[in-house]
Amino acid sequence: MKNQYLIDVLESVKKRNPNEPEFIQALTEVLESLEPVVEKRPDLVAAGVIDRLVEPERQIMFRVPWVDDNGKVQVNRGFRVQFNSAIGPYKGGIRLHPSVNLGIIKFLGFEQIFKNSLTTLPMGGGKGGSDFDPKGKSDGEIMRFCQSFMTELFRHIGADCDVPAGDIGTGAREIGYMFGQYKRLRNEFTGVLTGKGLTFGGSLARTEATGFGLCYFTEEMLKANGKSFNGATVAISGSGNVAIYACQKATELGAKVVTMSDSNGYIYDPNGIDLACVKQLKEVERKRIKEYVATHPEATYTEGCAGVWTVKCDIALPCATQNEINKASAEALAKNGCYAVSEGANMPSTPEAIEVYFANNMLYGPAKAANAGGVATSGLEMSQNSLRYGWTFEEVDAKLKNIMVSIFKACDDASKEYGMEGNYMAGANIAGFLKVAEAMKAQGCV
Ligand code: NDP
Repeated sequence: MKNQYLIDVLESVKKRNPNEPEFIQALTEVLESLEPVVEKRPDLVAAGVIDRLVEPERQIMFRVPWVDDNGKVQVNRGFRVQFNSAIGPYKGGIRLHPSVNLGIIKFLGFEQIFKNSLTTLPMGGGKGGSDFDPKGKSDGEIMRFCQSFMTELFRHIGADCDVPAGDIGTGAREIGYMFGQYKRLRNEFTGVLTGKGLTFGGSLARTEATGFGLCYFTEEMLKANGKSFNGATVAISGSGNVAIYACQKATELGAKVVTMSDSNGYIYDPNGIDLACVKQLKEVERKRIKEYVATHPEATYTEGCAGVWTVKCDIALPCATQNEINKASAEALAKNGCYAVSEGANMPSTPEAIEVYFANNMLYGPAKAANAGGVATSGLEMSQNSLRYGWTFEEVDAKLKNIMVSIFKACDDASKEYGMEGNYMAGANIAGFLKVAEAMKAQGCV
């Protein structure tokens, strides 16, 4: 980065937030992409848009006490970072994972600003979560945790203010418990959360949206470069919500998906993943991915999740977590002839891995564009709640597809306009930024 103004912004954020490496990583990538914008738009610099954008509007941290099945009091920490509301109510998921801390929630909330802007829907950026570990907890424990979490969070959110959703560790069950507690505390039935059950305001196709959207975006990117999912071999990491529906759509588009993983290890099935089995194991029985090989003798299970990137593939879809592809994994992908990486997870590639993609002319679909289908469909859920109406699966899926096609076009157009054709990462950062920046400038110094 050569622009002194951007260097100064980055240095001041680093000084202020010394213990937040993931946030600094996400910020550095965006600031680097914005160099040509800063040169072209001194008015945005004069309005202090970037100085303001890097500081959350509000960050809330709170105690979450709950009682486990043995009658023992447990205490977790809750977070909600309301990053930017220039173009709409704060919007972003709730992550429940023991690794959660303020820096991780800030990186996710920061990325969310640009992602939500790219969807073309009126949503600001936010994110929340807790260091609570849902793994191995009973339904009763999950419910008591979710109720306690919402007992504080409810005073900070609302259908026109901040609308949380799911993320790692937060699925339909958790959203249901949180929604129930919000409704009870506020005595109102509103669309305050998305990813709700279909019987109480949820949208058809929301469950599938991030994985399906990832494949719609990726198919556009492949098409623009003379390639397609049809006949391709695909490696997917993760076996959660995003991974499962990415696997389904990639297979429907003619690809053979050969891997899935969890934080312990990965499975390789040369015949193509049997998704019905994965859904039963993960969505119904809540078991580990290694159980797959018990019923699929030709498949193998290998301990260690990073090994998934050593499997030969044409297209890689990381769908687990941040920084899951480092330089060595990216090099392994390149060496095996992988020509496209498209991100279902948030920030799954380290900066060094991204350098490897570009050095090897691989197509790179960055998370904030490629996985925006989840939040886009959450936006559609909000619209349906406001209308007190529900669209069919096909209607929502068609709108999702249109949005993903338009997101790819926005990234592609911005990359060309700013002289970086084919760099969809820069295109996503610039296109996402410009809309928010115009809104911030128009609204004055707030
Ligand atoms: P889930 O909790 O449903 O699944 C997460 C999957 O990733 C699990 O297989 C999990 O394995 C694995 N995983 C989690 N943490 C790690 C880790 N530290 N190392 C290796 N594997 C890990 O979450 P989602 O599918 O919803 O989310 C996956 C990614 O997609 C996240 O980055 C999330 O932010 C992003 N995303 C999700 C959206 C959504 O709509 N759900 C929208 C946009 C992005 P294990 O069971 O062992 O923990």
